[in-house]
Amino acid sequence: MNPWPGEIIRTTLILLAALAGGWLAGHILAFMLLAVAALLGWHLLHLRRLELWLRKGARHEPPQGRGVWGEVYYHFYRLRERANRRKRRLASVISRFRESTAALPDATIVMSATGEIEWFNEAARSLLGLRSPQDVGQRINNLLRHPRFTRYFSHGHYPDSIELPSPIDDQQTLTLTIIPYGQDQRLLVARDVTRIKHLEQMRSDFIANVSHELRTPLTVVGGYLETLLDAGDECAAQWQRPLELMKQHNLRMQHLVEDLLLLSRLETEHENAAQHQPVSIGPLLNNLYHSAQTLSAPLGHDIHLDMDPECSVMGDEKELYSAFSNLISNAIRYTPEGGRIDIRWYCDAQGGHFEVSDTGIGIPPQHIGRLTERFYRVDAGRSRESGGTGLGLAIVKHVLERHQAHLHISSQPGKGSTFRCDFPPQALC
Ligand code: ADP
Repeated sequence: MNPWPGEIIRTTLILLAALAGGWLAGHILAFMLLAVAALLGWHLLHLRRLELWLRKGARHEPPQGRGVWGEVYYHFYRLRERANRRKRRLASVISRFRESTAALPDATIVMSATGEIEWFNEAARSLLGLRSPQDVGQRINNLLRHPRFTRYFSHGHYPDSIELPSPIDDQQTLTLTIIPYGQDQRLLVARDVTRIKHLEQMRSDFIANVSHELRTPLTVVGGYLETLLDAGDECAAQWQRPLELMKQHNLRMQHLVEDLLLLSRLETEHENAAQHQPVSIGPLLNNLYHSAQTLSAPLGHDIHLDMDPECSVMGDEKELYSAFSNLISNAIRYTPEGGRIDIRWYCDAQGGHFEVSDTGIGIPPQHIGRLTERFYRVDAGRSRESGGTGLGLAIVKHVLERHQAHLHISSQPGKGSTFRCDFPPQALC
């Protein structure tokens, strides 16, 4: 039997089947490619529509879509709605805040860390003369040029407020406070204190006038008392003691009047750094040291002076003399017999320091914060007995304020006290 025809037929069939399979696979592949391309095109089309919608802004409705894109559009829409609601709420909070600060009688200015004005209220126009929108973006120290403000602003740390005349009306007095907040933001608040200042001025004038009026009669009475005491034998012996007492009280009243006058002058005179001259600390302290020795002679104190005469300070010599002598005379008056008193003047990187330490009666801690108030005494009887007026430390505080200096008090009851005046480095010369 010949195998040929059967073999040929099988081979032909296999070839035909292979050809048919190849053709089918080609078509399936082509179909799949087409399907993938269509799917890709569909997604790209939706991506483009999404991008256009997002770009057009909040007011437009989202595009319509089916399946996964319908879901995507819906979620984006909800996210955007939520963000818009939050934005509207914030905007209303900000506008309410602005309305309320705009209605404040105090000038309020929002500044950046470098002092550029970002926003200010209506009162900032009337009190500080700021203009909108020209002054937004300007640096505050270019607009408020008073030297006291320049010094305050450049300090960079603002525990206190300052007082200034208004830049648009020098009859108006303002207190300015810088309040740091948030991330390097600063708020400047200015308040009109003209009325309070006026009342203070009236009170101070009244005290100054009364003191002035009392000065002459007290001097006259003092003079007669002196003459009567000097008369010796001509005056009856029983009058000697009352006359001595009258002289003592008269002297105390004269000191009181002098201190009141000095205090009222320190309060009312405007501090003017330009009037400050280099003060030679060496002669000033030698002078005070010799007066202290005379004053403390009956009590036998051991007084030491240690100073750096090379280091001087800019200031008003008379005022500094008065402040330093008050601290020294307090140390003498509140240190029992035989105690030690150290007077020091030294300079370091923090500035100049005048220090008086004593081994006296000391001060309980609850009184320390109030000692610079007028007439505040820990023991009024002892103060009067030793010839105190109750105004010494108030004078020290005012003098130091006028020299940008600070008083530091440390004390231990029964052990002694240290009063230190710290002058800033820029006050040294
Ligand atoms: P005064 O004329 O009464 O001394 P000051 O204003 O000088 O008035 O001082 C206020 C009060 O501070 C004093 O009455 C006294 O109680 C207290 N004080 C001041 N210096 C000292 C000191 N070195 N030691 C103890 N107490 C002091």
